[in-house]
Amino acid sequence: MLELEERIRRNGIVEGGEVLKVDSFLNHQIDVTLLEAMGREWARLFAGEGVNKILTIEASGIGIACIAAQVFEVPVVFAKKSRTKNIAGDVYKVEVPSFTHGGVSEVIVSKRFLLPTDRLLLIDDFLANGAALEGLIDLAAQAGAAVIGAGIAIEKGFQPGGERIRAKGVRVESLARIKSMEAGKIEFF
Ligand code: 5GP
Repeated sequence: MLELEERIRRNGIVEGGEVLKVDSFLNHQIDVTLLEAMGREWARLFAGEGVNKILTIEASGIGIACIAAQVFEVPVVFAKKSRTKNIAGDVYKVEVPSFTHGGVSEVIVSKRFLLPTDRLLLIDDFLANGAALEGLIDLAAQAGAAVIGAGIAIEKGFQPGGERIRAKGVRVESLARIKSMEAGKIEFF
């Protein structure tokens, strides 16, 4: 998606060669008009697939997923990073290593909000090693829900996540796929 690529070139900041900061428009300060255009693009790509719910992961996927959900006219569920052990109630759980913070989070979704009849679109801001997306796929599998595909804002194509997730047979639609990046120079596929 050209508009997103141009924005990344203009406002993205490469940190240490591995991490791209896009906090001026995507995940801290948020350009909602851009998010709406992204939502419309995913709606075009996944048209006719019967998506009835969007699933994302706390925290930075939530804004993007909410605007996409508005375009799809479906609810959005976000998997929560649980801060307390033995959370009350019936939940699906998975452990997800964090790319940006290190460490592992236990991620949960209430069984009430993921159903075997669901046709899920998974949404996240970044795809790096694929752990976050694999966690969401695992939660969907626990619920017996169908994963129609994944809508990713920015895929860092030089990291292995995209290949890993596509090898599982999951359709991944990344709106910007970075081939290489260094300070001041970002190339897309
Ligand atoms: P993965 O699980 O695919 O290794 O990493 C994806 C998650 O890590 C995303 O949910 C995102 O929040 C975070 N992440 C990965 N790479 C980057 C990056 O370059 N910049 C930012 N801001 N977040 C990233």
